[in-house]
Amino acid sequence: MKQLPPDTVRLLSSSQVITSVLNVVKELMENSLDAGASSIDVKLENYGLDRIEVRDNGVGIKAADAAVMAVRHFTSKICSHEDLESLETYGFRGEALGSICAVAEVAVTTKTEQEDVSTQYTLDLTGNIVSQKPSHLGQGTTVSVAKLFKNLPVRRQYYSSVKKRKEELRKVQELLVAYAIVKPHLRLLLLHNKVVVWQKAKVADDRSALLAALGPAAVANLLPCHHRHEEPEIFLEGFFPKPGSDYSSTSSSGPEKTFIFINNRPVQHKEIMKLLRQHYTAQYADDTARNRYPTLVLKVTVSPSSVDVNLTPDKTQVLLQNKVEVVLTALEALLISLYGFRPSPDPSVKN
Ligand code: ADP
Ligand code: MG
Repeated sequence: MKQLPPDTVRLLSSSQVITSVLNVVKELMENSLDAGASSIDVKLENYGLDRIEVRDNGVGIKAADAAVMAVRHFTSKICSHEDLESLETYGFRGEALGSICAVAEVAVTTKTEQEDVSTQYTLDLTGNIVSQKPSHLGQGTTVSVAKLFKNLPVRRQYYSSVKKRKEELRKVQELLVAYAIVKPHLRLLLLHNKVVVWQKAKVADDRSALLAALGPAAVANLLPCHHRHEEPEIFLEGFFPKPGSDYSSTSSSGPEKTFIFINNRPVQHKEIMKLLRQHYTAQYADDTARNRYPTLVLKVTVSPSSVDVNLTPDKTQVLLQNKVEVVLTALEALLISLYGFRPSPDPSVKN
């Protein structure tokens, strides 16, 4: 038996963390949000395969931190595992930038408020700086990722069909839409081959954010609802379909219209989605019910100590300590919005 060489170990684990164009965009956007950005531009060339660039106006990276910013397991967000109990940032593993370096060519241009000019750092595949030069960009950080998966031919091959590439662009757009819903003050822009694919201006409140994200037709069919569950404390805000409203996409391969957030993190929660969808489609007696995917937004806020976000490297799945209560509270909110009454009186669930 032999120990694998470090380069191989790095590539194996990095390619598990960084799995797709979507995944790169998500990691970079979350870094921008963690840096307090109010504006994020995402630029893709050739669907992100030639280049992905994410530019923000956040706090930037201090020169002293630059040397380790992309070295794996270096993070400014937590100091130990216990800090996950009170996690307020999207990132915490210190893995994204380093992993991207292992599978692409990365340059980071950054400037903090204290510095006069920005610096462009070119990184090597271990995440170390190979060169640096002054640059002209303003405060914030721009990460440029070129030739994604250049050393992973099978993964590049996955994008050889135009259909797959277009699907990936659609998913990137959906990701931006998801952040648009939970971040009213955020300005967002998505460009593909210099053409604007989607954009959102800064808006004042949740409803305006929803309008910007989903459009007036969808929002006209949504009812806002708020619920608070005490012991365990769960705060739920939803935008659910009005009774009998027919605003739904008709196939699962169409744009995703069911948005679930846990502590502002867009997540895939199959169980909650399935349950909500079942009750939504139950109001339709006909055959079309099967193919209806409701436009629906559910924002769940729970104590950070009751969520495990470290389940998958992409953090799109979470483990909830009080899943049953969360699911029941969400279901009750949906039923109230659909039928206007509380179906199963549960003394512990309060409006
Ligand atoms: P994590 O987000 O888990 O800390 P990353 O590898 O994504 O790990 O980033 C490493 C570190 O680099 C971050 O902790 C942060 O200090 C810094 N960083 C990365 N991107 C940005 C950005 N856009 N703005 C400011 N700092 C950043
Ligand atoms: Mg990160």
